[in-house]
Amino acid sequence: ANLPGSGVSVLAVFFLVLFLLCAGIVVLIAADLSAPLRDLERRAGEMARGDLQRPVVTGAEADEVGRLAFAMDAMRRSLKEQISTVEELNVSLEEKVSERTSALALANADLREALGSLTRAQDQLVRSEKLASMGQLVAGVAHELNNPINAVGNTLEPLERILDSLVRQCATRSSADGEAATAILEDVQAMLRVIRNGTSRIQRIVTSLSSYVRTDGEPTENVDLNRLVDETLEIAGHMLADVLVKKDLSRLPPVKGDPSQLGQILMNLMANAAQAMAGAPERLLRVVSRVEEGWIDLIVSDSGPGVPEGQRSRIFDPFYTTKPVGQGTGLGLSISQEIAARHGGSLELLDSPEGGASFRLRLPRAEAARPNSHGPAVTDAPR
Ligand code: ADP
Repeated sequence: ANLPGSGVSVLAVFFLVLFLLCAGIVVLIAADLSAPLRDLERRAGEMARGDLQRPVVTGAEADEVGRLAFAMDAMRRSLKEQISTVEELNVSLEEKVSERTSALALANADLREALGSLTRAQDQLVRSEKLASMGQLVAGVAHELNNPINAVGNTLEPLERILDSLVRQCATRSSADGEAATAILEDVQAMLRVIRNGTSRIQRIVTSLSSYVRTDGEPTENVDLNRLVDETLEIAGHMLADVLVKKDLSRLPPVKGDPSQLGQILMNLMANAAQAMAGAPERLLRVVSRVEEGWIDLIVSDSGPGVPEGQRSRIFDPFYTTKPVGQGTGLGLSISQEIAARHGGSLELLDSPEGGASFRLRLPRAEAARPNSHGPAVTDAPR
């Protein structure tokens, strides 16, 4: 009370010191609070960028910041778990997708194969339908042609005899008329020869056509194919005069068949081979016989130019020929295939990577012969 001025100053100093103390405490508390909050903020930023490995440092404080850090770490763990679950799901999903894709590809390949065999079966069906109707047509034509052509053929012989005797009679006359008549008759003889050649050719075609459609008589004889090969080679000798023939014949069980029809197949194959090799520098005919998967195979190969890729599917078609007019009827292979099928076998053109053409006649052995059956009938080894 005596020194009011100094008392106020002391009080002011006291309050100033108190204020500074409080301010210091507030600054310290704020600094203590904001440092972990900044850490948390930085960590939250890292987590947002995908870094979920490092834990959120919680410290030991049990205050709000500590609880916040603890909650953030729990959130980090749960996020990490969910992300790894999603990743696992993703992987198994990808595996499933690739499994399904390969299953689909397999199913697709199966479907494509099935479609291919269906198309082939359809082609085969269309072909056999066509062949059946063509067979009927051919049978009719052959029947209709047979009588008139035989009549022409039978008339030719007496006509030629009459003409011969006329030529002889005229030749005995020395007059100019006689000579003129002889010349005319000789011209007529030449014309008759042309008619005879034409007639014989038509008769051959008619016979081929008849045998093409002949369905009578089951093949019943036991035929030794090796012997048939030898016999056919003998008959075809004139065609194979300048051809080197190599035989590789295995011991065969007999086949059930008609020897003349089977011989016709061999003859067709050999004639085709001889014609194909005409003009070739090396002429080699190979005939191989063997037992294969229970079937009896006869393979006739030549060293000719072979069958071009584009013709392979057509050579068995009736009337398909690449030979000049007058040389080929286009019936040989078609008839041969028909005969082979009638014997329960097949005739096929094989692939010949070394060149030339190679045909395989496949027949069932005698005890297994079942006409028009397909697939191996007996599977034991050669006898
Ligand atoms: P053709 O002999 O009357 O022509 P084929 O039916 O016997 O009738 O033969 C049909 C076609 O097949 C022949 O014109 C020919 O183009 C082909 N061919 C047959 N055999 C052979 C072969 N050994 N080499 C090459 N082509 C052949």
